[in-house]
Amino acid sequence: MVSGRLGEELLTQAQGGPEEGRRRALAVAAHPDDTEFGCAGTAAAWTRQGWDFYYLICTNGNKGSSDPNMTPEMLASIRQEEQRAAARVLGVKDVFFLNYEDGELTYSRRLLGDVVRHIRQIRPHAVFTHDPESIIIRDSFINHSDHRCAGLVAVDAVYPAARDRWNFPEQIEQGLEPHKVSELYIWAFDKANFSVDITDVLELKLQALAQHKSQFGDDPNFLRYIRERWRNEEGRHLEQFRRIVLMR
Ligand SMILES: [Zn+2]
Repeated sequence: MVSGRLGEELLTQAQGGPEEGRRRALAVAAHPDDTEFGCAGTAAAWTRQGWDFYYLICTNGNKGSSDPNMTPEMLASIRQEEQRAAARVLGVKDVFFLNYEDGELTYSRRLLGDVVRHIRQIRPHAVFTHDPESIIIRDSFINHSDHRCAGLVAVDAVYPAARDRWNFPEQIEQGLEPHKVSELYIWAFDKANFSVDITDVLELKLQALAQHKSQFGDDPNFLRYIRERWRNEEGRHLEQFRRIVLMR
């Protein structure tokens, strides 16, 4: 396990990458709020170190309410605003929405092309996403089908689709260039090999989560739970990832 702050090694890799000095990261998530759970602390911490962080949200999140007075249309626009507000708290540079139907994300050529196009436009050094492999996690919860789909599409977009010129050649004709992502980060707990110390930015992560009012309201128990969830035995707060360094 590589632990502690973002290592010098990683910064050097980013600086020495194909686009020197540009430290860019893209998080691909299924729903508004997923990035806050998965990588908001890392987004805030890396932004402080000069990275540009971007979010790409695949669905409109319009099923995430049990309020009988809420319509799916109202909820979709509320959740977009909440996601933008959370991004502002963290210093995330921009948020893009693909607006697929919540709960109905399926693997398609169109969805893959959408993610590839954003990778070719943003040209990130690192891509963050869901765990596409696990269905049942630690015998205690189910990895949402939208999460698995978004994760799998993101992985396939990183390699080979965004990298190779003959995948989605119409994008190349429109002026985009192929792009090689150097590192992939899967937010997951059971196969983590890398952690980012987010202790200094924990309050920003909590504030960002609190922007998703339609999901969590002002429940103090929720924020207390969140505070505990990312704490290790030494009292440091960590976000954990499975980090894959891609061969050139
Ligand atoms: Zn989700």
